[in-house]
Amino acid sequence: MNVPDTVLAQPLRFQRPVQPMARARDASAGDTSASDAPWAVAAVAELFALPFAELLHRAQTVHRQHFDPTEVELATLLSVKTGGCPEDCGYCPQSAHHPTGVAATKMMTPEAVREAVLGAKAAGATRFCMGAAWRAPKDRDIEAVAELVRVVKDEGLEACATLGMLEQRHAQALQQAGLDYYNHNLDTSPDFYGDVITTRDYQDRLDTLQHVRQVGVKVCSGGIVGMGESRLQRAGLIAQLANLQPHPESVPINDLVKVPGTPLANQPDLDPIEFVRTIAVARITMPTARVRLSAGRRQMSDETQALCFAAGANSIFYGDKLLVTGNPDVDADRELLTRLGMKAVGLQGHAV
Ligand code: SF4
Repeated sequence: MNVPDTVLAQPLRFQRPVQPMARARDASAGDTSASDAPWAVAAVAELFALPFAELLHRAQTVHRQHFDPTEVELATLLSVKTGGCPEDCGYCPQSAHHPTGVAATKMMTPEAVREAVLGAKAAGATRFCMGAAWRAPKDRDIEAVAELVRVVKDEGLEACATLGMLEQRHAQALQQAGLDYYNHNLDTSPDFYGDVITTRDYQDRLDTLQHVRQVGVKVCSGGIVGMGESRLQRAGLIAQLANLQPHPESVPINDLVKVPGTPLANQPDLDPIEFVRTIAVARITMPTARVRLSAGRRQMSDETQALCFAAGANSIFYGDKLLVTGNPDVDADRELLTRLGMKAVGLQGHAV
């Protein structure tokens, strides 16, 4: 599944129009300014290749220009409709294509979601994200999710949803219900995408992000690393995200969770240092984004997570479970954040 870097020297299929290099960022010159100049993949790759201490210093410098480095946002993710998805994402246990034993469920009721929201709020979460395993929601699905969005907003949390591809009119309906964020990950670089997913293409992803932007809902979009992509392809993912105009407000970076039964179940582990580099590069190229440590935290050591925070991660998924895979439990998270002297954003005095 690995694609040699020499192959990647070819033009990327779905990349934004190629910009003259003279206008692109010069990573080697330490250009971390907030200009609108695009990030060339080569410039992002140069950041990846920096000596680790230099990379972390640059990422910390950018981070401190925009955020309190001791703050972390706590987001909670709930699967409101699990399994049976017709898409074939190679990493996903909810795909009907993979024998993972995840059963398809019906949509959760507003009452059940309210209970989960109250629990998340009591545990200190400020954002509540709801996921449904659809290729794209139908009209009746949007009505049901809009109801759930209103439940989240009633309880005073930010509402986020991840429902698959979204038409603009559906994005509009969710915006009117109060949706703050829509999550739709680019997953990986355009040239590696077809190795992981065959039932939709990269442009579909970009179109959904555009529909979300057009109605004024904030964009949450990131990707998954450790799927067998090369470093240059990781740079390709980050360049795609950073060149969105504007870049996403939230950027979840996931470390592949290898679920038995999925095509990626036997991928070798990604070097944790490379994961930290990915976080640092995301921070430098998307200075004002919440960079979120997402799936894969359970397999990460405390030390790796600490390095991720030092590299500019400032949001975590919080709670016992992600959509269907495990997450570090709440007590362990609280203990780690306390050991690191970090505090939950938006919750003054809240003991994490
Ligand atoms: S990642 Fe989303 S779209 Fe892909 S198979 Fe899983 S639930 Fe379906």
